[in-house]
Amino acid sequence: MNIHEYQGKAILKSFGVSIQEGIVADSPSAAVEAAKKLQADTGTGWWVIKAQIHAGGRGKGKIVGTEQRGVALAKNLDEVSTIAKNILGNTLVTIQTGDAGKQVNKILVAQDVYYPGASPTKEFYMSVLLDRAKGRNIIMYSTEGGMNIEDVAHDTPHLIFKEEIDPRVGLQPFQARKVAFNLGLSGEAFKQMVKFVTNLYKAYDTIDAAMFEINPVFKTSDDKIIAVDTKLSFDENALFRHPDYAALRDKTEEDPTEVEAGEFNLNYVKLDGNVGCMVNGAGLAMATMDIIKLSGGEPANFLDVGGTANAQRVEQAFRIILKDENVKAILVNIFGGIVRCDRVAQGIVDAYKNMGSINIPIIVRLQGTNAVEAKKIIDDSGLKVFSAIALQEAADLVKKVLA
Ligand code: GDP
Ligand code: MN
Repeated sequence: MNIHEYQGKAILKSFGVSIQEGIVADSPSAAVEAAKKLQADTGTGWWVIKAQIHAGGRGKGKIVGTEQRGVALAKNLDEVSTIAKNILGNTLVTIQTGDAGKQVNKILVAQDVYYPGASPTKEFYMSVLLDRAKGRNIIMYSTEGGMNIEDVAHDTPHLIFKEEIDPRVGLQPFQARKVAFNLGLSGEAFKQMVKFVTNLYKAYDTIDAAMFEINPVFKTSDDKIIAVDTKLSFDENALFRHPDYAALRDKTEEDPTEVEAGEFNLNYVKLDGNVGCMVNGAGLAMATMDIIKLSGGEPANFLDVGGTANAQRVEQAFRIILKDENVKAILVNIFGGIVRCDRVAQGIVDAYKNMGSINIPIIVRLQGTNAVEAKKIIDDSGLKVFSAIALQEAADLVKKVLA
């Protein structure tokens, strides 16, 4: 689960990490009020207005049909209001959003920390994430932070450092010092960076984050180290331990069909193909997608109905799959272990009848407990449903109905 920059910064602050202060707003007038309050609280004379969407690249991205960037500097209250108007309610396209872009519903009005006179300054890159190959958390960091970090990783990978954390002992003080040293810091800035890294890692570990990315980490001219941007995603499997963070979820940022599927506890990911699939078990779902490809189709989705494939769930899954207009056939591939195949078959027949107007072919492959009885239920139903027991049979049927 991803959250917005302003939410991630609030979490960082609660762990003692210094941040670029800001106030979130959802209208131009609220933005002006926020700007005044920030001026009173921090003394800032300029502000930076930042579109809040679940995607990066905002500083280079543009609001559709305009030259307005997703991150912009305002030097007076009129500019705050104008930029807020330009951004709010409109669509921002960045390299991370795809061509469709994302609608901006909120902006963060933040203190300008790059004001003239703040130089010499420096933008670093830092993230904490799980290195799956090593099975350990790492801190990844670079002296070359800012908006071109992708190019740095591509052109000069040796400028990106990694520090591996031993899970038995956690981040050690010498490691935090090594990070500050490699970033070329000394004196007060060195001390501040050690504190920054230590608290950032503590936040990552405590809240069960999957990834924390701070780009840029900013060094001010008076040697403060602050988080100017924050990208945070949570490990969803641990969210039950953090109900207050789970409540930060913004469903308007997610695919509506995926959200609906999540409400039914269906594991659904939308794809671009033409064959819908309904499967129990993630591994079998992957294998099913492979076999669809081998028979000349393209999977329209990944869908794992889980262990309890009863009639109601089957019907919910059908409804979700059929929301996608590109679906030309559906392949149901269920292995009956604990759940009996005849129950699933009856569920499919009931769902089909209940839904009335499914006018695309459905291929059902049931294997396992009572598979033969299940095939008979499907074959006797008189519906436009093709049954199979072997996976190859099912694949051949997919080929046939697509032809
Ligand atoms: P991203 O492009 O989505 O990663 O958004 P960021 O929050 O990283 O902001 C993009 C860029 O805006 C940063 O790399 C900075 O160069 C610039 N920026 C951010 N905060 C300030 C600020 O307080 N003042 C000024 N002048 N520029 C800023
Ligand atoms: Mn950034």
